[in-house]
Amino acid sequence: MIREELVFVATCDISGLARGKGFPARELPARLKKGVGWTGSNLMMSPFGPIWDTPFGTAGDFMIVPDPAVEVRVDFADGSAIEHFFLGDICNTDGTLWECCPRDFLRRAIKELDDLASLKLVAAFEQEFLYTGVSDRPGDAYALGAFRRQNGFGEIFTAALRAAGVVPDTFLAEYGPRQFEVTVMPQPALTAADHAVITREMARATANRLGQRVIFSPKPDPELVGNGVHIHMSLVDAAGRPATHAPGEPMELSKSAQHFCAGVLHHMPAICAITAPSPVSYLRLTPNAWAPTVIDLVRQDRGAALRICPTFAAATPTEMARQFHVEFRATDAAASPYLALGAVIFAGVDGIRRGLELPTSGQPEQLPRSLPEALDRLAANKTVAGWLGPTHFDAYLRFKRVEAEKVAGLSPAELCARYAEVY
Ligand code: GLU
Ligand code: MG
Repeated sequence: MIREELVFVATCDISGLARGKGFPARELPARLKKGVGWTGSNLMMSPFGPIWDTPFGTAGDFMIVPDPAVEVRVDFADGSAIEHFFLGDICNTDGTLWECCPRDFLRRAIKELDDLASLKLVAAFEQEFLYTGVSDRPGDAYALGAFRRQNGFGEIFTAALRAAGVVPDTFLAEYGPRQFEVTVMPQPALTAADHAVITREMARATANRLGQRVIFSPKPDPELVGNGVHIHMSLVDAAGRPATHAPGEPMELSKSAQHFCAGVLHHMPAICAITAPSPVSYLRLTPNAWAPTVIDLVRQDRGAALRICPTFAAATPTEMARQFHVEFRATDAAASPYLALGAVIFAGVDGIRRGLELPTSGQPEQLPRSLPEALDRLAANKTVAGWLGPTHFDAYLRFKRVEAEKVAGLSPAELCARYAEVY
């Protein structure tokens, strides 16, 4: 049959889903400039599709402009359509960035860190998901058997990631039934967030071609362990040298890293509404599920909100400094990687600016226990409002409040089932 290659340009916005528009590949030169048309209310599309509330109404035009540096073109060589998309920025029609562009939110956070402290953040997203193409069998946690029975999904996914410009690190059968985890190599923050979006899309694209699904929902089943997204982060100085590790300092963290982490802990109740942004996110953040429940920074504890990760076979101080990093665990795939990482960096920058110290004693505060509770903490946080700007802050709160309301009557099992259909 005749066919013509198509290209898609996407943003990953408040819903945490990649959305945008497609066009024939031959139009690409023109589309690299003018992008694809978008509206303010497109930002307000709920995870389930409908726009339930919007400050933008039906008025206004924007464009998603592809970033030529973030092109994915993967031929799965199975006769299926070439997976060809760009990630891009939401711009005003004059080409300037829209104040609600999620990717630019992260870019602004990166710039603040650089302007204030001459530091850059390097990050890698570790993501968990269920793969429906493997049967559920007792004893499968981390099992070679489960690893084998995914029947080539892992190999195709790994090849797709590499072809998409993402460098795969690990792929494994995780603890839960049918649960897998993928890690990719660290990158500068903006690229790391782009790669998080691409990783999810490559997992979906691979599963789709195998007639299966991947489910990234934070809690696919109330009885089972959740799907976390963990953001591994380290600071590097202007010369690109590691700037997180300082032997002899509290937690062996450099002064900048201490303030950065203190800022993240300080703002965690509010930014939780951005990093764990769905009602099911709070079913994941429960005890005994290797997910955080309190706002703490702990060395080598997988229950911590901020975990100082181990170093492996680091024989020299240089190697130790290179490996030493912190992991933010209070996030999941209902969050846009741009908004989640942006919020974490802005919080860290605020910690550096204010010279916040790490807590030394006392019981750590509980993480918000529900999305409405997190949204109340967000609404009350003027600093976070400043990072987003008035329009984006208002849009975000409206979006998430109505989402929480719409599913408020569902039981945990119904809620999990509903979100598992989307994510
Ligand atoms: N599944 C756990 C979570 O929800 C994480 C397990 C792990 O440490 O990789 O975050
Ligand atoms: Mg894991």
